[in-house]
Amino acid sequence: MKAVRVVGPSKLEVVDIPQPDPGDDALIRVHRTGVCGTDVKVFKDQIPGPRPLVMGHEMVGTVVEPGSRGLVAAGTRVLIDPATACGFCDLCRRDLRHLCRNGGLLGRDSDGVFAEFVVAPEEKLHVIPDGVSDAAASVLQVLGTCVHAQRAVSVFPTDTVTVIGLGVAGLLHVQLLAARGIHRLIGITRSQWKLDLAGEFGAAATATSAGAEQVVADLSEGRGADLVVEAAGVEETLALALELVGTGGEVLVYGTLTGGDQGLPYYNLYHKELTLYNPRAATPTDYDAGIDLAATGRLHLEKLVTHTVGVDQADMAFEAVQDSSSLKVVIDFDD
Ligand SMILES: [Zn+2]
Ligand SMILES: [Zn+2]
Repeated sequence: MKAVRVVGPSKLEVVDIPQPDPGDDALIRVHRTGVCGTDVKVFKDQIPGPRPLVMGHEMVGTVVEPGSRGLVAAGTRVLIDPATACGFCDLCRRDLRHLCRNGGLLGRDSDGVFAEFVVAPEEKLHVIPDGVSDAAASVLQVLGTCVHAQRAVSVFPTDTVTVIGLGVAGLLHVQLLAARGIHRLIGITRSQWKLDLAGEFGAAATATSAGAEQVVADLSEGRGADLVVEAAGVEETLALALELVGTGGEVLVYGTLTGGDQGLPYYNLYHKELTLYNPRAATPTDYDAGIDLAATGRLHLEKLVTHTVGVDQADMAFEAVQDSSSLKVVIDFDD
């Protein structure tokens, strides 16, 4: 079977390797896989791990051989929850398996899903209903993490909510907030076409960071945002979030910040008595909630897929995903 492996810094190969032996697990034929920032970090060797390694953790496929318990029948379309947990550590035993101390991610810590066939324990499978296309399904893993993040905050339809950073995740946050009844919804980013998409997905107003303060003030009658979702993952945008949020407000830090040296407006944290949430990963029920919502047809998931390439063009997928003109880049294994 064909698989996409990283073999060294910024070096990948499309190879023919033996199909994995499922043992008690389910064998799944992969249709499409999504490429994301984590894959790019693995590809560039910014995250250490085994080499060569089959990359990828976002996928949709069909069960070809059920696991030994037969929980999911052959022919069922599924996604695999790509996180592994030990079940033994204190966090697993506190039912925080998504934060497991010995946890791992497919395609980062062990062979992933950029392959024609993958095996997975039955309990890691999430069934995808017929009404959700393969293209839409290729963003469901990211959607699960956005659902997980939004579960941290309670919003009311009259709240003013701002989303900073309108990549795939930011645009999913816009859609989730619109689905939650938020109409004073503001999208902030640099590129006009992403601002246009946010408008299409339910944002009442959009702006670049330069115009953000005015737009938030206009929509909130000067109070500032009740909630700001930071989905860009850099210090500059977290600083902007702390400026845009109103007194007593909440900031949902979805982006992964690993450092910075510009200084945050720390006084805002105190003076506005702010609450920051920093949710990580997703739980099985978050994936199911995202899939459920996708099945209602209320989300625009296919519009988030801007590039689809065949497995033999996997290198092009990695170029596209690093280009600001892309949103979700998909490798099509059926192609
Ligand atoms: Zn991902
Ligand atoms: Zn654990």
